[in-house]
Amino acid sequence: MSLGWSRRAPVDTLVGTETTLDFTIPLAELPRVAHELTSKDGEAKGHVRFSRQQGQAVADLEVSAQPEVVCQRCMQPMRWPVKVKSRVALVSDYDSADRVPQEMEVFLVEADSVSVRDLVDEEVMLALPNVPRHAEDNECARRKVRLPGQPDEPEDAQDLQVQKPFAQLGELLKRK
Ligand SMILES: [Zn+2]
Repeated sequence: MSLGWSRRAPVDTLVGTETTLDFTIPLAELPRVAHELTSKDGEAKGHVRFSRQQGQAVADLEVSAQPEVVCQRCMQPMRWPVKVKSRVALVSDYDSADRVPQEMEVFLVEADSVSVRDLVDEEVMLALPNVPRHAEDNECARRKVRLPGQPDEPEDAQDLQVQKPFAQLGELLKRK
């Protein structure tokens, strides 16, 4: 069967026909992900294959994306690389979710049908960091901006002390 990433289709059909799909989905079209992002530029690319494994309806999903998030240390936008490869069990209720083999992720299907968009939205959501930050030792520190009301950091306080002798020298010179 032909399947677009936005189209919902019955899980039984997808699994029964072992449907596969290569997709490129604009991040703006992923509802939960788009809600989290300040900039919705970019896309999620990947591949999905539906099948039955160990008696369980699954989607083998590969997704990569570079969503833009805001570093919570320097408040600058940064690209967060997402590269996921997972086997997702498609279940219709919590009882079946309990029986899913541990190595699989669980996706709760509504009304026995699912779209690739739903699956990708979920995967990218899971991959987004709660508190995004540049890695240590990169330009994050150099870009540091002080936000209003934020206390000075210790290194800044030291800078002030280093400058004091010059201020005192200035005073001495004035007295001459
Ligand atoms: Zn940063």
